[in-house]
Amino acid sequence: MRKKVVIANWKMNYDFHDTTFFIRNFLKIVFERKINHNKEIILAPSFPFLHISNQILQGTTLNIAAQNIHHKDKGSYTGEVSASMLKSIGIQKVILGHSERREFFFEKKNILLEKMKIALKYNFNIIFCVGESLYERSNNQQFKTVECQLKETVFQCPSNNIKYFYIAYEPIWAIGTGKTATFEQAQTMHEFIRSLFLEKYGESVSNKISILYGGSINDLNAKDLFSQKDIDGGLVGNSSLQIEKFLKIVQS
Ligand code: PEP
Repeated sequence: MRKKVVIANWKMNYDFHDTTFFIRNFLKIVFERKINHNKEIILAPSFPFLHISNQILQGTTLNIAAQNIHHKDKGSYTGEVSASMLKSIGIQKVILGHSERREFFFEKKNILLEKMKIALKYNFNIIFCVGESLYERSNNQQFKTVECQLKETVFQCPSNNIKYFYIAYEPIWAIGTGKTATFEQAQTMHEFIRSLFLEKYGESVSNKISILYGGSINDLNAKDLFSQKDIDGGLVGNSSLQIEKFLKIVQS
């Protein structure tokens, strides 16, 4: 059985109050309504709130992920946060390759490779994002793009490292646009991604890797998406900012 995973990516939206309010109330509702969510729930707050978030979640089954790490171990990189710093406050997961980092912070293959290496050095779980642009989809290049993104990054790792990864397929045209991929489009891509893992690493790896969909998931479309055979959960942006909406997605 593959892990079912739902991740809330809060991006640069929540301050201290919002972050702690969400987490405390989310836990309270799950407890009061006896919600038995047999899946992995991961919350990704902003850097300053990782420590407090992790402390609140001690003793629960929920986990925290960072939204980024710097690609160097330490040194004169003013304003940056390293993997070892995050490790020192108990953070064990990180999102890498998000299209917003690729686009606004010019994170290309080489930087992503370095980030992956550092993350693996500190035994982080990596939520690695891939996905095509609207132009690429319109020109039927989505499979080529995603294959290339995987080959130049994740597939550089030996097979014993793959257990640290979750893959998030996030078509760029669906992120924050309200335009979700149809479940057929998503399933087709997820099946393709799994077939690439099969080809590269064999059956036991490809059967185990969790492949999440991201891109305008909401409480209404989550069920259809998550019922597809190769979709193992979701990476959720906007809809993770409201407790009730996010809960419905978790329960889907
Ligand atoms: C994301 O940024 O990872 C994302 C999927 O955002 P949204 O759900 O808002 O499209």
